[in-house]
Amino acid sequence: MKKTNYIIVGQGLAGTILAQTFLMEGKSIIVIDELGFSNASRIAAGLFNPVVFKRLVKSWLADELLPSMEEFYRHAELLLGTQFYFKKQILKPFAEEQEKVLWLKKSNEDIGKYLGKKMYDNYINDIIYSPLGASEVMQSGNLDTGIFLTSFRNYYNERELLLEERFDYKQMVISENSVTYKNIVAEKIIFCEGYKALENPYFSWLPFKLTKGEIITIKLNGNHVIPIDKVINKGVFILPLGNNTYKVGATYEWQDLSQLPTEKGKSDLIEKLQKVLKVPFEITDHQAGVRPTVSDRRPLIGLHPDHPSLAVFNGLGTKGVMLAPYFAKQFVNFLEHQLPLDKEANINRFR
Ligand SMILES: Cc1cc2nc3c(=O)[nH]c(=O)nc-3n(C[C@H](O)[C@H](O)[C@H](O)COP(=O)(O)OP(=O)(O)OC[C@H]3O[C@@H](n4cnc5c(N)ncnc54)[C@H](O)[C@@H]3O)c2cc1C
Repeated sequence: MKKTNYIIVGQGLAGTILAQTFLMEGKSIIVIDELGFSNASRIAAGLFNPVVFKRLVKSWLADELLPSMEEFYRHAELLLGTQFYFKKQILKPFAEEQEKVLWLKKSNEDIGKYLGKKMYDNYINDIIYSPLGASEVMQSGNLDTGIFLTSFRNYYNERELLLEERFDYKQMVISENSVTYKNIVAEKIIFCEGYKALENPYFSWLPFKLTKGEIITIKLNGNHVIPIDKVINKGVFILPLGNNTYKVGATYEWQDLSQLPTEKGKSDLIEKLQKVLKVPFEITDHQAGVRPTVSDRRPLIGLHPDHPSLAVFNGLGTKGVMLAPYFAKQFVNFLEHQLPLDKEANINRFR
C-alpha cells in the first residue's frame, strides 16, 4: 500500500492549483486525471478581470483574489521555469455614451483603481469599431492555461504523482479517518472534477447550473494587425496570442451540455466579432467545454456531510483563474489548520 495525505481527482485548474498548494504546505498528494474527460480548463481563454462590465462594479472578492493570484502564478512560473501568466489591459470600447459617463464617475470611487483614467477617442479606428471611444481595465490579463496545465502535468509525472486514468468510484473504500483507492491509502480524497462532478455518486446533489462555452481562434487576413497587446472586449473578447492570431469568445449555453463545438456557437461568435472587428479573418480552431457554474454563482468547497474523508473543490464557474489560488489556500488552511471557510463557498450552505 502506498500512503499519501491527499488524493486529488482532476487536474484542471482546480485540482492543479489545490495540489500545488498542498505541496507548498509540505503535504503529500497523488493526482488522478483522465486527459480530455472535461476540457474547460484547457480551452479557457484564462482571462482575469476585476471589473464586472454590466454594472461597472468590482467582481466578487476582487481585492482579495488578485494578490493571491499574483503570488501563486508568479511562484509557479519560477518553479516550472516557464511563462504562462500575462498582465494585459482589457480595452473596453464604449457601446453608448452613458457607459462613458458611468466610467468617468466610477473612476473616482473605490473601483477606480481598476479603471484606466485614459479615454481614447476613435481608438485604432481602422481596425475596430469604437466610434464612442474606449478606456481600459488595469490589473487584468490572462493565464495561458494550456502551458500551465501541461507544465504541471509533466512536473507531476516526473515525480510519480499522477495516475492517468478515469477514477472508478466503485474501487473506493471509505472509512472515517481515511480512504483507500486501489493500492493507495489517503487521509482524504478531494474531488476536483469540474462539471463531471455530476457523475460522482457522492457529490451529484450539489446544485450545479452548468454552462457550455465555445471559443474560436482566428488569424487576420492579409497584412492586417491589431497594433496593441491588449484584450479587446465588446460583446466578445479578442485575446492576442501572438503571430497575428487571436482567441475569440465565448458563448453561454445552458441546454446542450456536450463538449462538442457547434455551427451555431461558431456563427454567434462570428456575428459578434464582425460588430467589433473591421478587417477580414479566418477561423483556425474551434473548441467547446462546460463550465462548472453553480445556481448561486459561488464555489463549492468542503467536506461531504456524511463522509468527512471525502471533500470537494469545485464550482469555479466562469472565473477559475482568479478564484482557485485564493480558495485553494483557504481550503488547505481549513483542512490543516482548522481555519474557517468562507460561508458563501462552503457546501454546507446547501444542507
Ligand atoms: C469557453 C470557455 C471559456 C472560459 N474562459 C475563462 C476565462 O477567460 N477565465 C476564467 O477564469 N475561466 C474561464 N472559463 C472557466 C474555467 O474554464 C473554469 O472555471 C475552470 O476550468 C474550472 O476548472 P476545474 O478544474 O474545476 O474543472 P475542469 O476544467 O472541468 O477540470 C476537471 C478535470 O478533472 C478531470 N476529471 C473529471 N472527472 C474525472 C474522473 N472521474 N476521473 C479522472 N479525471 C476526471 C477532467 O478530465 C479534467 O481534467 C472558461 C470556460 C469555457 C468553457
